[in-house]
Amino acid sequence: MPVTLVISPHYDDAVMSCGHWLHMNPGAIVATVCSGLAGPGISAGAWDKGSGFTTADQATAARQAEDLAALRVLDAKQCPPLGFLDREYQYPARTLAGLEVSIGAFLDVLKPDRCLVPLGVKHPDHIQTARPAVALWLPAKALRQSSMRTCLTGSCMKRITTPCETTRSQQKASG
Ligand SMILES: [Zn+2]
Repeated sequence: MPVTLVISPHYDDAVMSCGHWLHMNPGAIVATVCSGLAGPGISAGAWDKGSGFTTADQATAARQAEDLAALRVLDAKQCPPLGFLDREYQYPARTLAGLEVSIGAFLDVLKPDRCLVPLGVKHPDHIQTARPAVALWLPAKALRQSSMRTCLTGSCMKRITTPCETTRSQQKASG
């Protein structure tokens, strides 16, 4: 069975963006980037406050539990959180510094056959997740060449082809 890794910017992105795909392809592993605890006493940011939470950590814990329940329905697995903070709590730099190293480590250990990255179009956490995920995945994939290895991004799951796949499809078309 092919190993699928979903690199999800937030706890809801894998299910909300790729839920149908996950349902049709059971056994995927979901790694959530913005899954860290801001710390005791940190008040909920505007988004989390609007969702009814008092503290940042309450919101994170609730979202992790919701995600776990949803992934169980889809027969997918939640792996230990990558532990980066949501943009709302990234003080002061508002970056996901170190994310490339974490994603690289996941790819090295899991050696997935497929990698899905729910993209979103504007949210900075999504953009900062997608860039290293795609940049690291494509070379890793090229090294472990396989006919079914694809990288899918975004709600519409745009397919990104590697030079190897492009070459094969071009050869088929011309041959
Ligand atoms: Zn998100």
